[in-house]
Amino acid sequence: MSLTDNDWYVEQWEDGQSSIGLRLTEAAKVHEEQSPFQKIAIYDTQSFGRLMTIDDLVMLTSRDNFIYHEMMSHPALFAHPNPKRVVIIGGGDCGTLREVLKHPGVEHCLQVDIDERVTRIAEMYFPELCDSNNDPRAELAFIDGVKWMEEVEPGSVDVIIVDSTDPVGFAEGLFKVKFFKTCLRALADPGVMVQQSESPLFHSGLIAGMHKNLKAAGFDAVNTLHFPQCTYPSGWWSCTMAGKHVDPGKPRLGDASEKDFPTRYYHADLHRGALAVPVFLREAIDAE
Ligand code: SAM
Repeated sequence: MSLTDNDWYVEQWEDGQSSIGLRLTEAAKVHEEQSPFQKIAIYDTQSFGRLMTIDDLVMLTSRDNFIYHEMMSHPALFAHPNPKRVVIIGGGDCGTLREVLKHPGVEHCLQVDIDERVTRIAEMYFPELCDSNNDPRAELAFIDGVKWMEEVEPGSVDVIIVDSTDPVGFAEGLFKVKFFKTCLRALADPGVMVQQSESPLFHSGLIAGMHKNLKAAGFDAVNTLHFPQCTYPSGWWSCTMAGKHVDPGKPRLGDASEKDFPTRYYHADLHRGALAVPVFLREAIDAE
C-alpha cells in the first residue's frame, strides 16, 4: 500500500497484479497503531466512509461492509435447523456479531478474536457495527481462535463462523485440516461451519483446497457462496460452508423469506443464487 501525492489510499493486490484506490478526505488517516499482533489503521474516504486496514489490507469500509457481514452470518444461520449457540472466530470489528444477534432464536454468541485492539478501535470508529456488543446474549473473548477451538467442550456449538484475515501469519492455522477437525468436534449434531474463503477469481485453488480439507476433516457436505465485495481483491468474494449431518446446500429458505429483521443485501432468493457456483470454480473444486 502507498499513499500517493493525491491522497489516495492505494492497495496493490499481488495475487491479481491489480490494485484498488479510494480517494481520501483532507483528514485522511485518522488513526494508526501497532497492536501486539498487527498494524491497524483508520482512514476517512471521500465516498466509502470510514476505512479500516490491518497490515495495510482493507478489512472493511462503512459503505460496503454490510454485504460481507450479512453473507457471513445469515446463510449459515438459515442452513442450520435451529441455531442457538454461535461462535465467531475473528470478526473483531463486531459487524458479524451484530448480524447474528438479529436472529431471535440465537441464545448466545461468543466472538473470539485474537486482538482486542481491533474491537476497541471498531467501537471508536465504527460504532454502528458495535451496537449489539452490550446485548446480554453477546460475549467477547480475546484469544487465539485455533487454541480456543482445541479446548472447547465437544458438541457445544451449533454454528461456527470464521471471519478471519487472509491465511497468513496467525490466521494461517484457521485454514488447516487440523483446525477443521477441532471445529467438527466442537459442533453439536447437526452443526454448521462457515469461513470467509477469499476471491473466486483470484483464489479458486484456495477454495478448492478448503473443500478437500473440510471433507478430509469429516464434514458431510460443503458449499461455497459468492457475493460482490468491491473493496476486496478482484471485487468478488466468497464464504465456504460445511455441514455436520446437515446439508448447507438445502437451507431454510421459507424461514429466510419470512425473517422479521431488516437486511440490506441478504434475502432468500439471493441466498439461493449465491449457492450457484460458476463453471470454472466447480471445475477447480471437482479437480481437487
Ligand atoms: N472481513 C475481513 C476480511 O476478510 O478481510 C476480516 C475482518 S476481521 C477484522 C478479521 C479478524 O480476524 C481480525 O480482527 C484478526 O485479529 C482476526 N484473527 C486473525 N487470526 C485469528 C486467530 N487465529 N484467532 C482469532 N482471531 C483471528
